[in-house]
Amino acid sequence: MTKFEEIELSGFGKYPKAKCRVTRPSGIAEILQSTREFTLTPRGLGRSYGDASINDSGIVAESLLMNKFISFDDSSGILNCEAGVSYKDILDVFVPRGWFPGVTPGTKYVTMGGAIASDVHGKNHHKVGSISSFVKNIRLLIASGEIMKCSREENSDLFWATVGGMGLTGFIIECELQLKKINSPFFNNRSVKLHNIDELFDKFEEFDDEYLYSVAWIDIVASGSKYGRNVLFLGNYSRFEELPIGLQQKSAMKYVEKKISVPFEIPFTTLNKLSVSLFNTAYYAAARSKDEYVHYDKYFYPLDFILNWNHIYSKSGLIQYQLNVPEDKGKEAIDKVLKKVVAFGGGSFLAVLKKMGDQDGILSFPFKGYTLSMDFPVRKGIIEMCKELDKIVMEYGGRTYLTKDSILDEKTFKQMYNGLWEKWMAIKVKYDPENKFTSNLARRIGLCPS
Ligand SMILES: Cc1cc2nc3c(=O)[nH]c(=O)nc-3n(C[C@H](O)[C@H](O)[C@H](O)COP(=O)(O)OP(=O)(O)OC[C@H]3O[C@@H](n4cnc5c(N)ncnc54)[C@H](O)[C@@H]3O)c2cc1C
Repeated sequence: MTKFEEIELSGFGKYPKAKCRVTRPSGIAEILQSTREFTLTPRGLGRSYGDASINDSGIVAESLLMNKFISFDDSSGILNCEAGVSYKDILDVFVPRGWFPGVTPGTKYVTMGGAIASDVHGKNHHKVGSISSFVKNIRLLIASGEIMKCSREENSDLFWATVGGMGLTGFIIECELQLKKINSPFFNNRSVKLHNIDELFDKFEEFDDEYLYSVAWIDIVASGSKYGRNVLFLGNYSRFEELPIGLQQKSAMKYVEKKISVPFEIPFTTLNKLSVSLFNTAYYAAARSKDEYVHYDKYFYPLDFILNWNHIYSKSGLIQYQLNVPEDKGKEAIDKVLKKVVAFGGGSFLAVLKKMGDQDGILSFPFKGYTLSMDFPVRKGIIEMCKELDKIVMEYGGRTYLTKDSILDEKTFKQMYNGLWEKWMAIKVKYDPENKFTSNLARRIGLCPS
């Protein structure tokens, strides 16, 4: 019998929440046992925003005890590890040895199983692709109880259905990753303060060859002449030789993180149009166009410095809306979306725009274009507003990101992922005909029956 606890579970957005049975297997036998008794949803660190790792009619199996490094080849940078290993685990052990993940999302509290299932991307997607570009193979426990080795060469249909497949093809047990050689933990960061979206799109192009990483923060509360003001952040790996002596000495040390914590859920939302507007005005005013060396922790994971920052959105939680639109009409589509959000008074201070490249995973979110992500506190009218955004996104042939999603309905999802979901479904039916692997997200968007 599977041992489990019944707890109220949510993703990082704290919306929606559901009472779930949660188990923490320490190995394959326990996962198999759970699949005999229940439908199952794999879960890592619960950093997806909505209900991707929630299952209120079966069981949720957390991978956190399956977190061992299995092998590492210091000459090639190939790491073999269990799926519960997190980015933080990898960074702590391998940065001092001169290796870095080829792709990282904006938090290091993400497991490799979760990263692969969402096929996560970083600020360098337009140059190197998403995490699957660095995954050599996966060992996947499927519904029949078999462990399938999947890669581009072996069981490739299952490989491409699993990267970005939101945990619905099986439980990722282990993966083999290619790490990237670095020789300092610092990054050269260039900040460019800009007045509007036109300038931003021009600068994306102007600096495209020069920088590996790029991302822009946009003030989506400002209107009138300040509409679309933003700061573009560009970056490259720093070479040890170019660092000032002080930083060369720090390169050898472990960076000490000082974190502040939002200790409990605030019963009312502290974010309203006024507070966000004040924050954004202060942030933009303080921003300077400059070049600096920044430690990777601060460069990639600024939000991790505020532990539990999602608590500032109060008990009702937040919706993260992330869209991707094709490159050719990207500027026009983003402009339409931003105008709608500004008119609504959406109240998001976290709005970031990135360039995206192509990706091969069947349900992977990226394709060549521009991606915009925005946080909205859950409040009256917000879902309706997001549905209006969906219409704009679809008008331009775009889609939204499943790992951030909490509002898509089946019809909209199937339009956005037209031609892809059908291809994915044929593979799902082949390997999991009884839908042993499911989730609240999967049932909501029609990837599994209710
Ligand atoms: C602050 C913040 C910043 C972020 N920035 C980015 C970003 O820049 N780019 C980006 O792409 N994403 C980003 N994300 C989203 C995050 O990277 C993904 O949601 C990731 O999947 C979370 O991993 P997790 O371990 O928490 O998995 P969970 O949230 O627990 O699960 C996510 C999905 O993975 C599946 N899954 C988990 N473990 C396994 C397993 N072992 N086998 C099979 N399936 C599994 C689950 O079923 C679920 O569908 C961000 C999230 C936060 C909170």
